[in-house]
Parts: sequence; C-alpha cells; structure tokens
Amino acid sequence: MTDCLFCKIAAGEIPSDKVYEDDDVFAFKDIHPKAPVHVLIIPKQHVATLTDAKDPALLGMLMDRVRKIADEVLNLAKGYRVIINVRSGGGQEVFHLHAHILGGKVLPF
Ligand code: AMP
Ligand code: ZN
Repeated sequence: MTDCLFCKIAAGEIPSDKVYEDDDVFAFKDIHPKAPVHVLIIPKQHVATLTDAKDPALLGMLMDRVRKIADEVLNLAKGYRVIINVRSGGGQEVFHLHAHILGGKVLPF
C-alpha cells in the first residue's frame, strides 16, 4: 500500500532498526520502546488490522515468526509478551497489522 508507514519501512523506503527479515515478514525495533526489548513484527503483505486478517495461514505464519524471532533471534530465554492492538479502541495507531514483542525485564500485568 503506497501511503502506509509500515509498508514503507518493510520496503526500506523509511529507515528502521531491523532485527529480522524473510520473504513474509519484517521485524524492527519500536521507536518508542516500552521495555528493554521492544520489537514490531509485520507481514510484508498489507493488512490494516487483525479484523481484516481472514487468512488463517497468514496469522499462523505471523505467530510462527513471533516465536522464531523472540526465541531464536532476540534470545528472550526468560520469556516475553506478545501484543496485537486492534483498532482505535485497542490502542492501534498504525494501521498495518503488527505484533509487539516486549521483553528484557519481568513485565507487570
Ligand atoms: P500500535 O499502537 O499498536 O499501532 O503500535 C504502533 C507502534 O509503532 C508504536 O509503539 C510506535 O512507537 C511505533 N512506531 C511508530 N513509528 C515508528 C517508526 N518509524 N519506527 C519504529 N516504530 C515506530
Ligand atoms: Zn502497510
């Protein structure tokens, strides 16, 4: 999608602090981290929000990459939190589906 911040980041048109990339996803550090480790994982395919993600294969792929990046790239051996904010009521500000990985400290509920 032409006018989407995260599509532009995945395409390299806007700089980011990349931590992982493959054919399906792009992962980068959040610009305003809320934990010592705060990484965003986006599908390269533009999907605005979880509500629009009707393809179970896409969602399965995304969660597989969350697991892979958190456990194998970020090495968050003590654990981590995964958050998907859904639409404005859920705190979503960027309308390109993304999962937050938060870790590096014990997270309060
Ligand atoms: P959400 O509220 O779930 O839509 O999360 C959007 C996240 O994107 C926020 O945590 C922002 O800090 C983060 N963010 C916004 N712009 C950028 C950027 N250019 N690079 C990295 N993270 C960003
Ligand atoms: Zn997009």
